[in-house]
Amino acid sequence: MALDPARVVTRLQELRELTGDENGAQRVAWTETWASARAFLAASLADLPLEVERDPAGNDWYTLRGASDRAVLIGGHLDSVPNGGWLDGCLNLLAGAEVLRRIAEEGTPPVTVRLVDWADEEGARFGRSLFGSSAAAGSMADQDELRKLVDRDGVSLPEAVGAFGVDLDRALEARSQLATAAAYLELHIEQGPVLESMSLPLGVVLGTFGVERWRIRWTGQAAHAGSTPMDRRRDALAGAAKLALAIREIARETGDGAVCTSGGVVCRPGIVTSVVETAEQLLDQRHLDATKLAAMLARAQELSRQFAEEEKIEVAWEKIWAIEPILFDETLIDLCDEAIRETAGTSHRLPSGPLHDAAEVSRAGVPTVMLFVQSLRGLSHTKLEDTLQAHLELSVAALDRLADRTVAHVTGG
Ligand SMILES: [Zn+2]
Repeated sequence: MALDPARVVTRLQELRELTGDENGAQRVAWTETWASARAFLAASLADLPLEVERDPAGNDWYTLRGASDRAVLIGGHLDSVPNGGWLDGCLNLLAGAEVLRRIAEEGTPPVTVRLVDWADEEGARFGRSLFGSSAAAGSMADQDELRKLVDRDGVSLPEAVGAFGVDLDRALEARSQLATAAAYLELHIEQGPVLESMSLPLGVVLGTFGVERWRIRWTGQAAHAGSTPMDRRRDALAGAAKLALAIREIARETGDGAVCTSGGVVCRPGIVTSVVETAEQLLDQRHLDATKLAAMLARAQELSRQFAEEEKIEVAWEKIWAIEPILFDETLIDLCDEAIRETAGTSHRLPSGPLHDAAEVSRAGVPTVMLFVQSLRGLSHTKLEDTLQAHLELSVAALDRLADRTVAHVTGG
């Protein structure tokens, strides 16, 4: 039977019925609803000649053995945030399942093809994203912190994952799954407004942004709002305010998708009758180019020192978290570009602001590429998340063409 993209949309609607409610998708990882979504996927593949396996990190693998052990992987995640959307993560898998069906029905492929349902991409319950893929990639290094995590009901992470047969001490054994991986493909909704603004259904993802997250402490002097003349003030908020505006310029001057966000400022004493003594400011900077990201950070730090001097206050920077940009594979990017042009006429190359399981797989050294399909109004992680049915069907067809090209490429290589 030929590929049937419309069937993927029907399956997505069925999954929404099964695992959503009036507030949206409720497939939070390590819950019964998530388990029922996974059972739904398993049932939809039950008639194919696949090997089915849950690895030590809780990832589900569906393997179609080929003439060679070298494997082309297609991945996604069934888990959602609470009150999430109907497409985030599960489009990847249900489209991948359709592609796997098409390949299986043509007989034994020249290379092995595997569908992977990653466990807990969102980290919605315990605040730790990319659980299963980071274990498989071997980059999970925070087991001691993971052991201490508890959800809102007081259930610990080891207890919650244990109910799904996952032992935290053994999770890294999932690494062996990537030993034979020759390529990794992931289709995902864009979750942003770029493709819609260009009136394009599909795009190739170049990689995921590097991120720098910092806490900036400005220290001045609390003083009476009535008795302190304007030229005698040491106002900590003035530094934070100047920097909040300056980072817009930094992003604009850097370009190529650069984004800078000051997500919060907490002022103390925080009363109407006092000059601000301390302002604690949050900064998030992102870019696909590591050099440009470093320059953006250096420029913000330099300007903060200038503002501190101007305002006669002090400034100190404390790192919260950082990750380097992760660039996808150039050959696969070209194959994906071709697949999209053949399917939709026009392609576009864009970076991804959010992280994805694909970033972990790529970090592990497996050639990786992602394919984005347009998101309506750029909305995601809400029940308003949506994509036109015609675009969903195009995305399935493009993933299928990409899989075909990748199988040929891996076979030849
Ligand atoms: Zn996702």
